[in-house]
Amino acid sequence: MTDSAVIVGAGVIGLATAYRLALDGLAVTVVDAAPGGTAGASEHNAGWIVPIMSTPVPAPGMLGQALRWMARRDSPLYVRPSPRPEHVRFMINMLRHCNPRDFASGVEALTSLNERTLQLFDEYDKDGVRFEHHRVGQLLVFTTRHTMEEYRSASAPMERISHTAIPLSGDELRDLEPALIRRVLTGLRCPQERHVDPASLVRGLEERCRELGVRFLHGSPVTGVRSNGRSVTSVLAAGEEVPGDLFVLAAGVRTGPLARLAGHALPIRPGKGYGFDDTSGSVTLRHSVYLGEAKVAVTPLSDRLRFAGTMEFGSSDAAIDPHRLRGIARSAHAYLPDFPAAAQPQGWTGLRPMTPDGLPVIGPLPGKDNVLVASGHSMLGVTLAPVTADIIAAEVAGGRRRADSAGTALPFSPRRFGVRRARSTADNRR
Ligand SMILES: Cc1cc2nc3c(=O)[nH]c(=O)nc-3n(C[C@H](O)[C@H](O)[C@H](O)COP(=O)(O)OP(=O)(O)OC[C@H]3O[C@@H](n4cnc5c(N)ncnc54)[C@H](O)[C@@H]3O)c2cc1C
Repeated sequence: MTDSAVIVGAGVIGLATAYRLALDGLAVTVVDAAPGGTAGASEHNAGWIVPIMSTPVPAPGMLGQALRWMARRDSPLYVRPSPRPEHVRFMINMLRHCNPRDFASGVEALTSLNERTLQLFDEYDKDGVRFEHHRVGQLLVFTTRHTMEEYRSASAPMERISHTAIPLSGDELRDLEPALIRRVLTGLRCPQERHVDPASLVRGLEERCRELGVRFLHGSPVTGVRSNGRSVTSVLAAGEEVPGDLFVLAAGVRTGPLARLAGHALPIRPGKGYGFDDTSGSVTLRHSVYLGEAKVAVTPLSDRLRFAGTMEFGSSDAAIDPHRLRGIARSAHAYLPDFPAAAQPQGWTGLRPMTPDGLPVIGPLPGKDNVLVASGHSMLGVTLAPVTADIIAAEVAGGRRRADSAGTALPFSPRRFGVRRARSTADNRR
């Protein structure tokens, strides 16, 4: 019988899961290393809810493109040369998934996973989770027709779940968003896609969790896991032993090391992103806009315009490379000419939890009967948070609910990485 759950990680995935389990009546404790709020990518991202863009990062041609961009310090995709064996192993594994067959099966799995995404966000609103939620739709804009066609064909499978991408001419796009430069030739309008202020979402989820009685231990990094055979009995966090019937590992890019503490290694590595917020008012947008060739996301929030982009493999800290930020600012000016060309934005970074096949890791950790993993959401953690929580809740509830979600959840099982036991003892500490 599962009465209590301990969630490690107060990012959007951990909070969505805590909320869902608390609604199901469990006594939930959330443990996070950060002194207040979340320290992860969940506050610093573009805030898009985009089933239409739910494709795996490893795509045919993706690493070839990264290699061509290696010499450019402001490129949107960058693989930092690093001799670290885990980085090399990860990149080789990712390269193996950059083929049409794996890409198509990944798209199919993510499409099914996204079937209820919008409905679940609507339920957040109805239940009183307070956050900034925009339903205006999204524009993907391009200066070349063939890039538009690539995105159009990648998004075609999402029509099955009623997410459509409607081709528009440059002039039709400028009718919707007059700030776009004349060089924008074509684009896609995706009316069902949404965006949120991601910081307001994590705040709103934490507030609602507290109303439901969830206990929060902030400033409490988990450094050890205590087990009894196949069951974890407690985690050790800042000197406190936190017991529970069930444990959910939702620690973003740190989920791999945590899983190792519980006895099973998982290949989750960081993909660093960059961004900045512009409050100057130089550009006004209504829709969220994807600057296609530059791979930059622009999000209009109530009091600012957020720019985000870049996928950098091989960096695992929050350090800012100013070249990458300036690259985003230059792209902004190239598509939105009123944005100043010489802008030197103060920015931020966020570490996306990446997997070699580009799919999240959701489900039971091999070797343990009461540990679940909810991580590896890459560029889609905000989009997929509510549905991830639903799958975890179904797993906990068992019976009919688990059976109903089993087909959708299968491609995301941690078991797909093989049963690789980490060096582990009954009482595993670092
Ligand atoms: C630039 C950028 C733009 C993005 N845009 C979008 C977007 O538009 N739409 C979208 O859907 N997704 C987007 N993403 C992806 C999204 O931000 C991530 O997938 C998501 O935030 C991951 O959430 P998480 O809860 O798994 O991890 P995190 O937010 O990283 O949270 C993990 C938490 O675990 C805690 N933790 C770590 N180790 C421990 C430990 N040992 N003990 C206790 N606590 C621990 C950390 O302190 C942290 O608070 C973007 C990401 C970036 C970087």
